[in-house]
Amino acid sequence: MDQYAVFGNPIKHSKSPFIHTLFAHQTAQQLIYTAIEAPIDDFKGSLNHFFAGAGKGCNITVPFKEQAFQYAQQLTDRATLAGAVNTLKLTDDGLIIGDNTDGAGLILDLKNNHIDLKDARILLLGAGGATRGVCGPLLAESPKELIIANRTFSKAETLVGIFSGLGNISAIEFSNLEGEFDLIINATSASLSGEVPPISAALVRPETAIYDMMYSAQPTAFNKWAKQLGARLVIDGLGMLVGQAAESFAMWRGLKPRTKQVLTELRHNLSNKILKIGEKHAVSSCK
Ligand code: NDP
Repeated sequence: MDQYAVFGNPIKHSKSPFIHTLFAHQTAQQLIYTAIEAPIDDFKGSLNHFFAGAGKGCNITVPFKEQAFQYAQQLTDRATLAGAVNTLKLTDDGLIIGDNTDGAGLILDLKNNHIDLKDARILLLGAGGATRGVCGPLLAESPKELIIANRTFSKAETLVGIFSGLGNISAIEFSNLEGEFDLIINATSASLSGEVPPISAALVRPETAIYDMMYSAQPTAFNKWAKQLGARLVIDGLGMLVGQAAESFAMWRGLKPRTKQVLTELRHNLSNKILKIGEKHAVSSCK
């Protein structure tokens, strides 16, 4: 049977086997999807072994996305722009193609939540790997403006340099942020430590859509903060996780699974797990 997997280190808490197994059932595909903890110093050896066997494709998560970018023999345009690969596919010709589906996953989830991106003013907080992965897909939706703010300002400026040919993108310091935004996306990892990026509360209006790429059984620190300030639409990154998985699945199998029911089941599963093992801070960044 065709085998798929997610590679990471650590990988124990990965939701990907759950998501892809549901996708396979939904689309009547015969496949096995597992989680593989690759040794930190031998990711390449792990991949070689996988593709020499029944491995047909895989997801890649922390800390191997840049190494997967190097490993791929051919890259999609969005992977090239993202500078990182989260999906590898072995073609019938024996070629390994690298893709990055994180941005498409975010766009899918924003659309599922009826957030209009065309002509929108979007604030993107953070300038790490996740931000780099979503800039291209966000600009492709023709927003009026995409502003990146980051603690280390030079990283935001670097991203503007990479993406300025694709649309109206600029960088600004946290402390200089002002004005009205239709959408604020938190792509920092601040919620992981229960922190909120230092931005003015005045930026959050009732009609500002709030999106934290982090997800957890409980609202993330950022989403809690925004909700308290009166934001009506507050979303976490679980839908993005399911969305990027759906894009990977479509690349491998040529079929686009429906995400809504899988997201509902995953949310339920996440909450139940917390109850079962009594975790207090089940904030996750693990595919
Ligand atoms: P990186 O480590 O590459 O980047 C982290 C970013 O967060 C940097 O811009 C960093 O700023 C900023 N940051 C960290 N702590 C703070 C803080 N206390 N205050 C302000 N800024 C802070 O991480 P990624 O870009 O890969 O991931 C970012 C988030 O997105 C993670 O939480 C991850 O879980 C989530 N994610 C979710 C996905 C999903 O499918 N839902 C997919 C991918 C990522 P600086 O540059 O100054 O260090």
